[in-house]
Amino acid sequence: MKVPLLDLKAQYAGMREEIRRAMDEICDQQAFILGPCVEQFEQETAEYCGSAEAVGVSSGTDALLAALMALGIGPGDAVITSAYSFFATAGSIARTGATPVFVDIDPVSFNIDPAAVKELLEAPRKRLQGLVPKALMPVHLYGQCANMTPLQAIAAEHGLNIIEDAAQAIGAEYPATDVAVRAGAIGDMGCFSFFPSKNLGGFGDGGMITTNTPALAEHLRRLRNHGSEPKYYHSEIGGNFRLDALQAAVLRVKLKHLDQWHRRRSRNAAFYNRAFAGSPAITPTAVYADRNLNHPHIYNQYVIRLEKRDQVWEHLKKAGIGCEVYYPVPLHLQECFSALGYRPGELPESEKAANETLALPIYPELTDEMLDYVSKTVLQALQL
Ligand SMILES: *Cc1c(COP(=O)(O)O)cnc(C)c1O
Repeated sequence: MKVPLLDLKAQYAGMREEIRRAMDEICDQQAFILGPCVEQFEQETAEYCGSAEAVGVSSGTDALLAALMALGIGPGDAVITSAYSFFATAGSIARTGATPVFVDIDPVSFNIDPAAVKELLEAPRKRLQGLVPKALMPVHLYGQCANMTPLQAIAAEHGLNIIEDAAQAIGAEYPATDVAVRAGAIGDMGCFSFFPSKNLGGFGDGGMITTNTPALAEHLRRLRNHGSEPKYYHSEIGGNFRLDALQAAVLRVKLKHLDQWHRRRSRNAAFYNRAFAGSPAITPTAVYADRNLNHPHIYNQYVIRLEKRDQVWEHLKKAGIGCEVYYPVPLHLQECFSALGYRPGELPESEKAANETLALPIYPELTDEMLDYVSKTVLQALQL
């Protein structure tokens, strides 16, 4: 049996006609950039995420970049973020000229550790020397929200803005004081990606920025269009960060299925959790699962921890199972950031995660037979 890490053809098979009709409408209109379809998709995304506004952009990376630009972040500023994430988190900070300041993760959730952020800001300020801390960029890794309540308290105390990197977490819920809030509606801005492998994936690149602050939304709409307002008059420099109508058309169709896909992913996760109980494979913890939420974790990735990770990885590959390491090198040890002077051992939980994590197939269309094959093969590999 072969089980790919992700099978987008299986998803497309069930919605081929609907998607083609939606794309056909755009083809007939021959209006490809922004426009009414993008606006409708923005409204639907804002509604889905529970935010006042949403601004469609060209990718998740550009969402992060534009959000930082909207806050005026640049050289001399520090943006505090997780050392364990996809590269775009740190890359977008560096591209503004600001300095990413990395802090360690909580080993259970894989998300930024609020205590480590507090310590950075309050104890020995070594990593912040000569920089002005401006923003926090927590990442909701693998589809589960970072612990936002303490982060919001720290941000308020130190006058920092919060940009959520919600690229992997559309629809993930967080237990705020007495209500469930969704990723992207918690900080000042939330950044989403519609890269095809995300839970809501387009037919190419795409992204979205959510915000509850109308002035930020207005600024982002200018920035995504070279900062122009009115047309051909530029009081500031933006970029081409626009979302295509064809992507919006596809994504509008898919958005209607998103909650159902989240549920299938959760069910698949429960299957693996049962299969791995009592084995040396450490299963992911949905840390807010007992808080009465519909989607405490959307499982964009189902990631286990293994001491013998590389050995299991090899075995799975040979058995025809798609799996991947997200991510093999933590951000603070990436070569391009060597000038920042981080040393191995400095952020031990991120480094340990990089050595132990393995993502297994979790996509909604997996059959019980496939789940069974994957879990038995993992257990078998652990006995070698
Ligand atoms: C996918 C992803 C991004 C970047 O999104 P793109 O649409 O690929 O540019 C940023 N951050 C995280 C955590 C991601 O997973």
